[in-house]
Amino acid sequence: MTETALRYATARVAERPERLEPRTLYIVGEGNDRFCAAMVCPCGCGADLNMSLVAGDEPSWRAKTHLDGTSTLFPSVARTMGCRSHFVLRRGRVIWCTWQAPRCRRRHRLWDRLRAALLG
Ligand SMILES: [Zn+2]
Repeated sequence: MTETALRYATARVAERPERLEPRTLYIVGEGNDRFCAAMVCPCGCGADLNMSLVAGDEPSWRAKTHLDGTSTLFPSVARTMGCRSHFVLRRGRVIWCTWQAPRCRRRHRLWDRLRAALLG
């Protein structure tokens, strides 16, 4: 998977669609009231991710849409269940955090294989 494959477009919607399109960050709200952001997990697991944009919610995120139509989500999104993806969305691009960077994942897989070979 190349990094350019993981770009998210921004969709401003009044209501959260039931079915989310991949590679789309939905910003749900009316006018200046933005309630939440929703997107399909970029790792490919297919899970829907919902981030509150309501200040004071625990946790809550801030979303900024740039002039080129891409969006930045702050802070990072970390799943505590399922795939445990952890990433930042910056200007529509997914930037993996910590060990989930593709290079690190590859290293982890190699290490797993090596360990399996050594321990039989
Ligand atoms: Zn995932």
